[in-house]
Amino acid sequence: MADYITDAAVQSVCVLCRRHGVAAADFANSAAQLFAQSTALTYQGAAKTTGTPWQFTKTARRQAEGIVDSYMAAPPAVLENITPEIFGNRLWRMLQTEHETWPQGDLRVVLASWGYPVETLFNQNTLDLTTRQYIREKYRHICQYCGRYGNSVDHMDPVSHSGNNNIANLTLACAECNQLKGDMPYADFMRIDQTTAPLKADLRRLEKTQKALKQHLLDLQGQLAALTHQAADPTAPGADALRQKIKENQDLVDQSRADSMKISQLRGRYVQSQWTVAQYREETRGW
Ligand SMILES: [Zn+2]
Repeated sequence: MADYITDAAVQSVCVLCRRHGVAAADFANSAAQLFAQSTALTYQGAAKTTGTPWQFTKTARRQAEGIVDSYMAAPPAVLENITPEIFGNRLWRMLQTEHETWPQGDLRVVLASWGYPVETLFNQNTLDLTTRQYIREKYRHICQYCGRYGNSVDHMDPVSHSGNNNIANLTLACAECNQLKGDMPYADFMRIDQTTAPLKADLRRLEKTQKALKQHLLDLQGQLAALTHQAADPTAPGADALRQKIKENQDLVDQSRADSMKISQLRGRYVQSQWTVAQYREETRGW
């Protein structure tokens, strides 16, 4: 990546293009673009011609750089729950919409304003990396609550209640289940969440579909890159047909993601409301 950066601009898409003397502005490169966005650099690929030029004040750029630096140095729990992709996208949106009035450059304040449980993410994480890795491998990266891909080591009995860091109290969760369970005692969460089994089955099916669609999308993008690079010509015959296919496939991915999100929200609302009811019953017991 460093090869493409001069001053504050991500200049080009690849060395091959440069060698062919192809204009960077003719190509899109999502990885370079995302890198540029999250570091508030200027990206001079195709995206620039379709969107607004990215211009930030010096202060906003410095703040963004500071936040990216803090993110890189954040505790493992932060990096596990907020992947670089999510972080980059979210930071970019924030820069676009709020860069005029952006008040702070503190990572904790920023993450809190995005709705993340900052106290949990930054504290109570006395687990070392070996333990985390052991738990991930033990459960083969499968969330023990919903069966989808999981990467977050979770205290079954919340550490805030028990302070229990024993292996037997640790399990693996996806970011969604981890957040949903929050500080709920394990037995309560399991009892309430078992009724969402059909929703979780749908979520697992959608995850599988998305995985296949994304792989297909990558293949198509690879084909397009190979075609246009070989010809050193973004208008090479067949390129537009491939672009159309990529667009259609991307729409399917987006649609499938939207479906998942709806089901996740449904499950979240159900669990939260049942938990509220359970706490209420506990409070009024014996009245
Ligand atoms: Zn899960």
